[in-house]
Amino acid sequence: MLSTVLASVGHGHGRVRAVHGWVSPEGALSAECMAIHFRELAHGTAAEGAQFTVRILGPRARCVACGTTYEPVHSMGRCPKCHGNVIQMEERLPLGVDRIELETP
Ligand SMILES: [Zn+2]
Repeated sequence: MLSTVLASVGHGHGRVRAVHGWVSPEGALSAECMAIHFRELAHGTAAEGAQFTVRILGPRARCVACGTTYEPVHSMGRCPKCHGNVIQMEERLPLGVDRIELETP
């Protein structure tokens, strides 16, 4: 995940001020653990000292009939729009990055 951040930053684009990421609730790493891990890896890079925030992001389902995406926990597995019950769980990585803030010169 940190390599994604650093790849986005590249060279000569200034320092990273903050990183906003997410982790799935069933992921191996807790949000707190990820933040510690991130700070260790960021040492000596453009992301050193960056503020790191992680949110827990639940699984999402997609309705095959109308394409609506929603969190299945809140709708008993049925599509909230058309009430269809043919759904697909979206495949997703256990963690990722939402947004990277760079320091403006
Ligand atoms: Zn639907």
